[in-house]
Amino acid sequence: MTIYSPIHTVNFRLLNAISVKRDDLIDPYISGNKWRKLKYILKDVEAKKKTHLITFGGAYSNHLVATAAAASRNNLKSTAFVRGEIVTNEMLLLCKLFGMDLIFTDRESYKNKPLLFSSHFGNNSQTYFIDEGGASEEAVIGCAEVIDELTESYDHIFCAAGTGTTASGLLKGINNHKLQTKLHVIPVLKGGSFIENEIQQYEADLSNLQIHTGYHFGGYAKTTPVLIQFIKDFTGETGMLIDPVYTAKMFYAINDLVSKNYFKKEDKILAIHTGGLLGILGMKEKLGGNLNRD
Ligand SMILES: *Cc1c(COP(=O)(O)O)cnc(C)c1O
Repeated sequence: MTIYSPIHTVNFRLLNAISVKRDDLIDPYISGNKWRKLKYILKDVEAKKKTHLITFGGAYSNHLVATAAAASRNNLKSTAFVRGEIVTNEMLLLCKLFGMDLIFTDRESYKNKPLLFSSHFGNNSQTYFIDEGGASEEAVIGCAEVIDELTESYDHIFCAAGTGTTASGLLKGINNHKLQTKLHVIPVLKGGSFIENEIQQYEADLSNLQIHTGYHFGGYAKTTPVLIQFIKDFTGETGMLIDPVYTAKMFYAINDLVSKNYFKKEDKILAIHTGGLLGILGMKEKLGGNLNRD
């Protein structure tokens, strides 16, 4: 299977021509890293002859839409436990259109995913458990393939991190190829240093890893006016959409580090655009609230 994830060059403000791996272009619904994370999970599903995917996520989860779309294309059923009270939004609408069953689950019950799985589907041998965000060994293997696809070498590779699974895969890929590349990880949650432990579960050698914990903008799915303005400026100037939850924080970080002379002039930088553009729909008011941009 060939995938469409070209490398494009963008020029923005201080950034002098950084390269961007366009995983956002792989698919409009099975977006970016979620596609990579599901790739080997779906192979395992096929090998085990399962027919029904069961997964978990918040009401704005890119992973839920990705799983729903992937399931319907592979003739699989899908069910998601959705954290919190009953809501409707664009993401869940897409999930339903792709045929996913949604089970809204209070926050306390949601914490114990294996219990939710076994109490609802314990007797159903057709079901396959996929953790929140697709976190798994299979996901790490899928994400490592980003590095296999590179035809040039880079001094620095950047990615945004939620659980750190994607970063684990990238680091594994860098180490497998014995590259000198530094992997810079931008946690989008507050207190992001926990990502290091997450990554260590999958990849022991952390010598090429650098985590930047100062770009969370208040925490997961939180934004500030500075970040919102950055998104508008960046997209307006480059023609490339970025999402407010993940990739905007990563691009902001790169731009900020460049402005602080963190890199050498000749350093080659690659940013992984992990997709997540449907996340824009979750922030319509913030992003479009003032349409009279001056
Ligand atoms: C889910 C997601 C991430 C985070 O991936 P992790 O493997 O959980 O760290 C990054 N970017 C986008 C666009 C995502 O949807």
